[in-house]
Amino acid sequence: MTTHISPAIVMRTWEFGETDLMISFFTADKGRLKGVAKGARKSRRRFANCLDVFCLSSLEYELKRGGELYFLHSGKLVHGFPGLRSDFSSLSLASYMIELTEILFPLGVVSKRMFELLNCSFSALDKDKNIDKLRILFEAKAMTLGGYKINFDRCCKCGRAYVGEGRAVFKQSKGGIACLKCEQESKLSPGLGPATVKALNAIQSTPWDNAQASGLTNEMIHEIKPLFRLHMEYRIGQRLKTAQYLE
Ligand SMILES: [Zn+2]
Repeated sequence: MTTHISPAIVMRTWEFGETDLMISFFTADKGRLKGVAKGARKSRRRFANCLDVFCLSSLEYELKRGGELYFLHSGKLVHGFPGLRSDFSSLSLASYMIELTEILFPLGVVSKRMFELLNCSFSALDKDKNIDKLRILFEAKAMTLGGYKINFDRCCKCGRAYVGEGRAVFKQSKGGIACLKCEQESKLSPGLGPATVKALNAIQSTPWDNAQASGLTNEMIHEIKPLFRLHMEYRIGQRLKTAQYLE
């Protein structure tokens, strides 16, 4: 059996047996995995502070014979993101990010970019307290990586290219926008101004740092919020449990 060492984000932990800890963690090279840390609750030596939820740690692990469960041998804390735990809103958003990742990426589905997105998002949440903005950045980028990018190129009804002028309307069942000749703005088809469309389109396709600097105004955030609620409900087929803590 081969031992691996990967940077990993700790997603969840459960007490297991008398002294063990079960851990769900997201790695850059193997996706989301589940492992057991033997004796981790009794002796903290091999796993000093590195198995707390949301931590970025370097974990050493090995696949248990004949299964999908891993044995964790040791770990080292890389970043604990203490600012993320300092208030309820940040903590809630981090939990929400974990839940969305779990839904979009089942066990063992590899996505280096998703690992990087989680890492960048936790790093931002460690310092930045603009919860609404960080939530939108994460939703847009995670949904894109999960295969649910919103199409802003053309009207999903008449096919006319959207050239960045005038308002557009989001269509939930199409995962795209329609022009105002084809659709009216309503609660189920929220409208977006041209600057909002442009910003959101850029967020979906640029690296995190550019997306974070994209200059989302409060007005834009107000327009985008109902859009992602509809988009995620339709594509994922459920409302995230942790969403209630963010309202
Ligand atoms: Zn149209």
